[in-house]
Amino acid sequence: MRLFGTNGIREVVGRELTAAFAVRVAGAIGAEFPVGRPIVVGRDGRTSSYAFARLVEGTLILGGHRVADVGVLPTPAVQYLVPRLRAQLGVIVTASHNPPEFNGVKCIAADGLEVLRSVEEGIERAVEAGTARSVPFSQIGSSYSVRDGADQYVEGILGQVDVDRIRRRAFTVVLDCGNGASAVTSPSLLRRLGCRVISLNGQLDGTFPGHPSEPTEAHTRDAQRAVAGMNADLGIVHDGDADRAVFIDSAGRYIPGEEILALLARDAVARAHGGVVVTPVSASQSLEDAVRPLGGSVHYTRVGSPAVTRAMVEKHAVFGGEENGGAITPSFQFARDGAMTAAAVLDLIARADRPLAELLAELPRYALIKERIDCPVDLRASVVGRVAAAYEAAGRRLVTIDGVKAFSDDGWVLLRPSGTEPLLRLFAEARDPAAARRLAEEGRASVDAALRALAAPP
Ligand code: MG
Repeated sequence: MRLFGTNGIREVVGRELTAAFAVRVAGAIGAEFPVGRPIVVGRDGRTSSYAFARLVEGTLILGGHRVADVGVLPTPAVQYLVPRLRAQLGVIVTASHNPPEFNGVKCIAADGLEVLRSVEEGIERAVEAGTARSVPFSQIGSSYSVRDGADQYVEGILGQVDVDRIRRRAFTVVLDCGNGASAVTSPSLLRRLGCRVISLNGQLDGTFPGHPSEPTEAHTRDAQRAVAGMNADLGIVHDGDADRAVFIDSAGRYIPGEEILALLARDAVARAHGGVVVTPVSASQSLEDAVRPLGGSVHYTRVGSPAVTRAMVEKHAVFGGEENGGAITPSFQFARDGAMTAAAVLDLIARADRPLAELLAELPRYALIKERIDCPVDLRASVVGRVAAAYEAAGRRLVTIDGVKAFSDDGWVLLRPSGTEPLLRLFAEARDPAAARRLAEEGRASVDAALRALAAPP
C-alpha cells in the first residue's frame, strides 16, 4: 500500500483522511520509532490541521513518546527545528499547496531532511498491519510546547544574509502569504530586514480566500498588480506551507521559478568559485547555461525535494532546488525554503545594487511549458515505457532518471508519472516558445498513441 507521494501523504479530509486514518498513521509512526528522543509535531493553517495535529500528538503520547509541539509553522521552519530540538523525527500536518479540502502528513528525519523512502515504506507497512504501540499508564509519554520556533527560524535566516546592507536599501516589498503558514514568519523576517511590507492575504485562513494555495502566475495576479501599482521593488508569494517562494519584478512581471533558481545558482557558484548544483531532470537548461561559464556543474536527480536534498549532501553541492520556486540554500539547511529564498534574493539585489529584472535579463531565457495529461494510475508506467521506445526508435537522445526526457536539436520534452495522481506530467522546453509548444504537442501525441495501443485488444 503506497501512502506517501513525492512529498508526503495527501488526502481529502473527511473522505480518505478521517480521524481514524490519522490515528492509524500516527500509531504506525509511533511504533516505527523507539521511545526516547522527542518527536516534533508541527502544522500548517488548514481548517483541519489543529485537530489532526492533536490526534497525532495524543496517539504518540499514548505510545510512550515525548512530543515537542511547535504549533503553526512553515514546513522549512519545522525542518530547521527538528535537529535543534534534538528530536528523532518531525511530523508535519500539511498539504502544502493543495486545494483546501486536502490535508496530509510529511515526516522529517533527525537531521532535518525529509525521511528516506525506506522509512516511509516502514510506516506504510505498519499502517497496513494496523501496528501501534500501547504502553501502560505508568509509561505514558508527555508533550511540551515550543513557543519561539518562529523566532529561532527567522533568527537563523538573518544569520545567512547581510542584514545591514539589505536594511540600508529600505526595500518596498509586496508579500503575499496566501493565507498560509508563512504568515507567522515572513512578515517578521521582512520587518527585521528593514523592508516596507505591503501585505496581501497575511492572515492564516485554511479556506484560502485570497487565491488558491499554489503560487502560479494565474493565482498571483493581485500581487502582480500590487507591485506595479504601488511601485514596490518586488513581490514575494509563498505556497501554503512556505517551502516555496515565487517572485514578481518591479514592473509586475511574474518570474518563472526556473529563472530565480538559475540566478541564485549562478550567485552561489560565483561565490564558491565553482561547485555542484543539484536539480531534478525537469529543470530548465538555463540553469546549466548560468553556472557552466563560472566553473559550476549540474547534477540531475529524480523529481522531488527528497531526492534533491539527499544528492546535495552526497555531492557537497553549493546550491540546489526545483523549478517551482523551491530553492535550497545548503549553508542554512537542506530543505526547500521560501523565506530563506526571499532573504537570499533581497541579499543578492542589495549586493548587486541593481533591480531584479536587470539581473534576470542577463540570463539565457527559455520557454518552459508545464502541463498535465490524464492517465489511469495503472497505465502510467507502461505509457511512459511506450513513449520512451517510440522516441528511441526515432533516434532521440534519452535520459531516463525519472520518466523519459527526450532531446531534440532545439530543446527537450519530459514525461513522467505523477507520484500520487492519475496523470502524467509533461515538461517541454526550447529557446523559441513555438518550438517548445511543438515539443509539448509531440509529447502529448505520443502519450495518446501509447494509450490507444494499450486500450486496443491484443
Ligand atoms: Mg509546499
